[in-house]
Amino acid sequence: MKALQYRTIGSRPEVVEIPIPEVGPGQVLLKVTAAGVCHSDEFVMSLPEEAYTFGLPLTLGHEGAGIVHELGAGVTQFKVGDSVAVYGPWGCGRCHNCAAGKENYCSNAATEGIAPPGLGAPGAMAEYMLIDDPRHLVPLGALDPVKNVSLTDAGLTPYHAIKKSLPKLGAGTTAVVIGTGGLGHVGIQILRALSGATIIALDVNDEKLALARKVGAHHAILSDADAVATIKELTGGLGANAVFDFVGIQPTVNIAGAAVAAEGDVTIVGIGGGSLPVGFGVIAYDAAVRAPYWGSRSELIEVLDMARRGQIEVEVETFSLADAPTAYERLHAGTISGRAVILP
Ligand code: NAD
Ligand code: ZN
Repeated sequence: MKALQYRTIGSRPEVVEIPIPEVGPGQVLLKVTAAGVCHSDEFVMSLPEEAYTFGLPLTLGHEGAGIVHELGAGVTQFKVGDSVAVYGPWGCGRCHNCAAGKENYCSNAATEGIAPPGLGAPGAMAEYMLIDDPRHLVPLGALDPVKNVSLTDAGLTPYHAIKKSLPKLGAGTTAVVIGTGGLGHVGIQILRALSGATIIALDVNDEKLALARKVGAHHAILSDADAVATIKELTGGLGANAVFDFVGIQPTVNIAGAAVAAEGDVTIVGIGGGSLPVGFGVIAYDAAVRAPYWGSRSELIEVLDMARRGQIEVEVETFSLADAPTAYERLHAGTISGRAVILP
């Protein structure tokens, strides 16, 4: 089968021919219908050799959807032909967090070498994909896999981040979304659907700001030196009750810290390496700072239900597997609107 692999540190990913995986007991083989292109892949492929821990060659793709093609011995929960989405942050399945569905915070994954598909295990950018356990599959039903595959990360991650701040986002409040790309443009829609907040979106150019307005931001402003003053002006001097930073570089983290209101939340989702000093008089009184990772299994079910109800819709640009390296180049150049999706 064809697969997109990262094979050499510092090189672009390549389309190669590899064997179709064999299905062991308790496993499921999917014929992949769609695979999303995440900025985290870009981060992984930017790491120098000494910091790279994902194994080589690495079949990319941690946002996956497929049709059940073959069931391993003992798997009875799915039928051949079922359309499914892949829950990506695989855990051990037995620790306290996994028992609560929070496999994203599995306490054994690191020590037992359990890695998500596309981030250690072979990912979704291939014709076939092996799933270690049927609990990592969620039925898509009538949902279009191409339009919805990215909800497995670009939907689930902002949903998990936003859900904890919802008690602070009632009527009359303000939420700031920094970075309105794959995750951010879904985050805006989740905030529109679930909160009473006025949404201020920040990004670096007019095309990105136009998408932010299209998906529901009340205000869309450039992420520059004036952004904090504009947020303060729009909130009567109070600042934002929650700031979600989907970039996470030092300049955006600085904006997030300066824009938060007293008792507000700063949630740093982007893995740009920025950090925020927290201390008395350094940040707004009683502000909370979080850096969450991905989301839980039940939250993926909730996100897909939001899509079924028409509350969220991913803006998608599709590429063939042969063109997947181009999708990564376009992501790097900042010219993807919404999410790039590969059709293997
Ligand atoms: P993306 O490239 O689709 O979107 C990033 C957006 O940020 C783009 O629209 C870009 O124009 C904008 N941007 C860049 N610099 C900016 C600045 N200075 N101010 C405002 N906006 C700016 O990326 P994505 O796939 O949505 O991922 C977003 C971030 O989240 C990445 O760092 C990614 O690695 C990370 N991520 C984290 C998790 C997690 O669990 N914490 C999960 C998935 C992705
Ligand atoms: Zn676990």
